[in-house]
Amino acid sequence: MAAYDDQNIFAKILRGEIPNDTVLETEHTLAFRDIRPQAPHHVLVIPKGPYVTYDHFAAEASDVEILDFTRAVAKICADLGVGPVNGGDGARFISNAGEHGVQEVPHMHVHILAGRPLGRMLE
Ligand code: C5P
Repeated sequence: MAAYDDQNIFAKILRGEIPNDTVLETEHTLAFRDIRPQAPHHVLVIPKGPYVTYDHFAAEASDVEILDFTRAVAKICADLGVGPVNGGDGARFISNAGEHGVQEVPHMHVHILAGRPLGRMLE
């Protein structure tokens, strides 16, 4: 596991050094719109803690951070009206990790994509 680089762009967003289009902020989680949206709704959800990848977060974050994160995802889906659990048309949740996952920003994040049919990703 690579050490956490506190100069990555999401760390700068968390410190307020770079602006972002926030959709939700909680004690442990920040969510903002992706600057290069791939769908009508494209939100990035990040933990405030220094986690590099999804598996790093899943292994080392506290129960409180993990619950805060997952409930933030649920609230965003409900607020956008896209979550099937609330009658929405659906969404896709993606977390790219590491080199083979083609992760561009080394701070754990989940993409929420919604607002159009997204096609099959896996065959
Ligand atoms: O999962 P991956 O690391 O490849 O994606 C990073 C995402 O962060 C990209 O979709 C990119 O558009 C987004 N980004 C952003 N704001 C920045 C820098 C990157 O929304 N300032």
